[in-house]
Amino acid sequence: MSTDSTSNESGPRQSLAAADLHHVYGKGTTEEHHALGGITFSVDQGEFVAIVGPSGCGKTTLLRCLSGLMAPTSGTVTLEGTAVDSVPKDLTLVFQDYRRSLYPWLRVDANVEFPLKHSGIDKPERVERVRQALDDVGLTGHASKYPGQLSGGMQQRVSIARALAYRPHLLLMDEPFASVDAQTRSSLEDVLLDVWQRRNKTVLFVTHDIDESVYLADRVVVLSNAPSHVLAEITIDIPRPRDQIETKATAEFVELRAEVARLIRNAGTRDHPPGEGEA
Ligand code: ADP
Repeated sequence: MSTDSTSNESGPRQSLAAADLHHVYGKGTTEEHHALGGITFSVDQGEFVAIVGPSGCGKTTLLRCLSGLMAPTSGTVTLEGTAVDSVPKDLTLVFQDYRRSLYPWLRVDANVEFPLKHSGIDKPERVERVRQALDDVGLTGHASKYPGQLSGGMQQRVSIARALAYRPHLLLMDEPFASVDAQTRSSLEDVLLDVWQRRNKTVLFVTHDIDESVYLADRVVVLSNAPSHVLAEITIDIPRPRDQIETKATAEFVELRAEVARLIRNAGTRDHPPGEGEA
């Protein structure tokens, strides 16, 4: 369902929107912590948006509010014009910790199929979706293995396949590649970009890695320290397809990453001064 506010004859339609989101943990207690301090931004359909900000500024809190997993203290979240108050069907989440998100006793194909079993999709359709999702992430041929027989990067591909098999328009990803080595991370980034473009997805991607945000996104949303608000939205107009070595060597990339890094350094001096390449 959509409203006038989500459509624009001259531009893309809005997917997800946050308006003046506040979240306070432990409100009224001595432990009170004002994490989100009025966050407003939106993501268009088909867009790839990255969120970066100082450590502890509330990126995960924001994703939890956006996905309907947690109610913000105040403010609104809408998906295609409809208020989000529980996890919408058209949205899936991918977390950092693939080890805890896969069932070790199920084979890869059964792990990918598992959430579909509870959504009323019949068996032949489930089998086809699993096949296509595993193909999309380059895991054809590994369907009958157990997660423990796969590398960390391959296990994270299974998590992504599971999200894709659900066929959501919108993927929310919370530092999904933070726990794999640098080379695996690069290849997972390229798998994600490939799937995003071929399958016409919308992606909102939280990361603490500035290079990753600039390499992947159409737009980088930079958050301030807590109580966090949007410090800046940087458009990344680097042409696609991007290449891990060539793109990162361009003056454009170097300048954009420096711009984001400066914003985060200035945002982070109060509590958690981040190191170079870290947010
Ligand atoms: P980020 O993802 O940017 O590192 P988080 O959203 O995880 O930040 O956390 C933001 C702040 O909220 C942190 O100071 C954290 O300690 C606090 N926080 C997170 N979850 C809870 C919770 N369930 N109860 C109380 N405080 C929390």
